[in-house]
Amino acid sequence: MSDDTGPSAESHELFLKLTQLNNDLQSVQQELARKNADLERLAYFDTLTGLFNRRSILEKLNEWLRHLERYGGRLCVIMLDIDHFKAVNDLYGHRIGDRVLTNIAHLMRETIRQTDFVGRYGGEEFLILLPQTDAGGAAIVAERTRASIQGCPMHDAEGKAFPVTASLGVAEWCKGDDEDLLITRADAALYRAKDAGRNKVEITACTL
Ligand code: GH3
Ligand code: MG
Ligand code: MG
Repeated sequence: MSDDTGPSAESHELFLKLTQLNNDLQSVQQELARKNADLERLAYFDTLTGLFNRRSILEKLNEWLRHLERYGGRLCVIMLDIDHFKAVNDLYGHRIGDRVLTNIAHLMRETIRQTDFVGRYGGEEFLILLPQTDAGGAAIVAERTRASIQGCPMHDAEGKAFPVTASLGVAEWCKGDDEDLLITRADAALYRAKDAGRNKVEITACTL
């Protein structure tokens, strides 16, 4: 009679080991996929607001500029800066300041179309791209955004409401404009809005 606990028990054990190894490998692969997705999110999106980060909004802008140079068309950019934001941090604390940033990011996303883009350009500055939009259309979007921020009270740690406003500078793309020129013109419009008393929209249309 043959001893059937021998080779078959060994191969059963081997089978169990292989199954375990296979399961381990699958978990490692799933973990790797999760980590890759996290890395991708970090590379493209701002962790606080969930908007495009500075690098990716500028990438989007350059994509559109290449498209415009080749096929023509229109593009407006809006630079938005929260008014007296340092005072918000000083008065209510950094955590409430962070919450104001996320609330404003949410309001901006609600105001723009799905085909527009919005990114966090710097600390409390945001860049909105409006493809196929002229200065008149961009002025309407900017004004709607300004009004929605003014009309949406923020809340301190005790739940007490306080107002926040933002200033916006709109620049229309002119043929030949590169990223620097367009952003410089949006910045100049933003400074005019600040100089005019804040909570305002200023526009630099293309006259070419
Ligand atoms: P203005 O109306 O001229 O724009 O004044 P401002 O106070 O908004 O401008 P300023 O540049 O003096 O201050 C910007 C402030 O934004 C200072 C900085 O601490 C704050 N800030 C930048 N990034 C963050 C952030 O991620 N979270 C918070 N809570 N504050 C931030
Ligand atoms: Mg600023
Ligand atoms: Mg500011």
